[in-house]
Amino acid sequence: MTVRYPFLDLARVNGPFMDEIRERVDRVISSGRYVGGDEVDAFEDALARFSGARFAVGASNGLDALRLILRGYVAMGVMRPGDEVIVAANTYVASVLAISDAGLVPVLAEPSPETSNLDLLRLEEYLSPRTRGVMTVHLYGRVCWSEQLRKFALDNNLKIIEDNAQAIGASVVDAGQRRRAGALGDAAAFSFYPTKNIGAMGDAGAVTTSDAELASVVRALANYGSDRRYHNILKGFNCRLDPVQAAVLNVKLPWTDRENQIRREIARVYLSGISNPGIALPSQPEDDLEMVWHQFVVHTDDRSRFTDYLDAHSIGWDIHYAVPPHRQPCYAGLFAGEFPVTERLAATCVSLPVSRCTSLADARDIADIINGF
Ligand SMILES: *Cc1c(COP(=O)(O)O)cnc(C)c1O
Repeated sequence: MTVRYPFLDLARVNGPFMDEIRERVDRVISSGRYVGGDEVDAFEDALARFSGARFAVGASNGLDALRLILRGYVAMGVMRPGDEVIVAANTYVASVLAISDAGLVPVLAEPSPETSNLDLLRLEEYLSPRTRGVMTVHLYGRVCWSEQLRKFALDNNLKIIEDNAQAIGASVVDAGQRRRAGALGDAAAFSFYPTKNIGAMGDAGAVTTSDAELASVVRALANYGSDRRYHNILKGFNCRLDPVQAAVLNVKLPWTDRENQIRREIARVYLSGISNPGIALPSQPEDDLEMVWHQFVVHTDDRSRFTDYLDAHSIGWDIHYAVPPHRQPCYAGLFAGEFPVTERLAATCVSLPVSRCTSLADARDIADIINGF
C-alpha cells in the first residue's frame, strides 16, 4: 500500500541530484583511487568554508565523528577517563554512546519542554568537579546555544562539543555575529546518514573545529593513529570518509540552504495551519535563530489514537525517539535520578513529514486533516 503523504522517500529526495552524482561517482570509480583523494579533500574544504570553522575532517559517520572528538580530547589530555560530559537526556542514543566510548561519563540533563533541547538555564545542576565538557545537541534542526552556555563553559573550563547531526546550515546570532552550527563550540560532529538534511548514499560524517591541534589529532585517529604512512603516534582506528560518499556530498552540499528553505516553508504551513488544541506545535524559534527543521515534532497525550488517525489518512509519521538513552538496556542501572521532562517528551512526540517529498499543498492538506482529529 502506498502512502499518499510519505514521511520520507530518499529516492525522491536525491532525484534532482542524480545525474551529477552519477557523473562524479563514476569519476571516482574510474580513478582507481578508492580511499581518500580529491573528492574527500574537496569536501573537507567545502564543509569548512560552509560551516565557518577553520578545519573539517571527513569521517565514516556521525557517531564516529563524535567518538573522534572525544577520544581526541582524551589523547590530548584535555579529558581523562572518568571525566564527565553533560548531554541532553532526550538525545538520540549515539550522542551518549560516543561519550561512553571514550571512557567518559555521560551526565544526562533534562531538556527544556519548549525546545526539546538542553535546558541552558539548568546547567549548574549537573556540574561537578569532574565535568570537562558539554555536548550541545541541535535536536530536530534547532540550534542549542546561548551566551549563558558559552559563559558557563568559560567559567568552568569546559569544552563545548556540538552534535550537529541534525542542524547542518542552521545558524544563530552569537556575540553580534551570525554563525552556523558547527562553528559555535570547540568542535562539532556532522552526520550525513541518508535521512539527514544533507544525506549521503550510505554512512558518512565529519568533524569541524577551529582548533588546529584537535583537527590533526582527529585526522590521525581516524587513520590508524598515523600522522604519516607507517608512523603511528596514537592508537587509532579506521574511521575515514569514503570518497564515493564524498562525491555524493560534493554535489549536495552547495544546495544545503535551498534544501533547508524547503523545510522551513513546510514548517511555516504547519505552524500557521495546524490549530487543533490537542496537538502541541513546536515553539517558534527566537528571532535570531534560523532553524532547519530536521524533524517537525508535535506532541499529543493521545499518541496512539493520533498515529492511527494519521495512518487512516495515509499520512506518514515517525517517532524521535520512543525510548530515551537512560531506558536502553545497554545503560540499565547506570543513570541515577529521574527524567520526567524527557519521559514526557518521549511519550508524546510524533514527527510529521517535512522534506522535499512534501509539497506545500500536501502540507496544507496534512494540516487540515490534523485539524479534523
Ligand atoms: C544521526 C545522529 C547521530 C549519528 O550519526 P550516524 O551518522 O547515524 O552515526 C548522532 N547524533 C544525532 C543527534 C543524530 O541524529
